[in-house]
Amino acid sequence: MKILLDGYRRFRKEVWPAEHGRYEQLARWGQHPQTLVVACSDSRVDPQTVFGAVPGELFVARNIGGLIPPYQPDGHYHGTSAVLEYGVRVLKVARIVVLGHAQCGGVRAMVEGSPAEARDFVDPWMQMAKDAIPGLPENTSHDDLLAHYETEIVRLSLVHLKTFPWIAEAVEAGQLDLLGFRFDIHTGVLDELHEEGFVPIT
Ligand SMILES: [Zn+2]
Repeated sequence: MKILLDGYRRFRKEVWPAEHGRYEQLARWGQHPQTLVVACSDSRVDPQTVFGAVPGELFVARNIGGLIPPYQPDGHYHGTSAVLEYGVRVLKVARIVVLGHAQCGGVRAMVEGSPAEARDFVDPWMQMAKDAIPGLPENTSHDDLLAHYETEIVRLSLVHLKTFPWIAEAVEAGQLDLLGFRFDIHTGVLDELHEEGFVPIT
């Protein structure tokens, strides 16, 4: 716990004096983020760090794999879908960014199976993606399988976004962009997903 409180004290001493005007404005006028990010919960892939963003800029949902489920308004507990609804319908963000990453434990679980201790929730969550993504031949190498699912999980999330009627409508009206990215923890390089696959941002 000490490391967290030391971090907080550093924030108060070193960050707050320079930033308190920004926070004051955000408190007074509310938040108006233009970008909604859905990213993996992985501690190494922080959207605010990767995009060099400041408080107030990004509305963020993080979950295992950075995965977006299909539209399913069934009264159950859909945390990620609730973030999408609030971001798109209330905050009226201009873009949704899906941020996947290399070395993802969620993607690894799709290839190797979930850890035995994490079958209550992780397993069905990742199975949702695995069921929707076409597999590869049995003799595909382990690395190729990981790369395949790394790519396709971002593509699937973008497809699922359009199953939300108010997202599809906003995209159709030219009011909302949907973008997919992958961050590589080894190299720090960000790739954007295009039809042909990931292309590095220059
Ligand atoms: Zn991950």
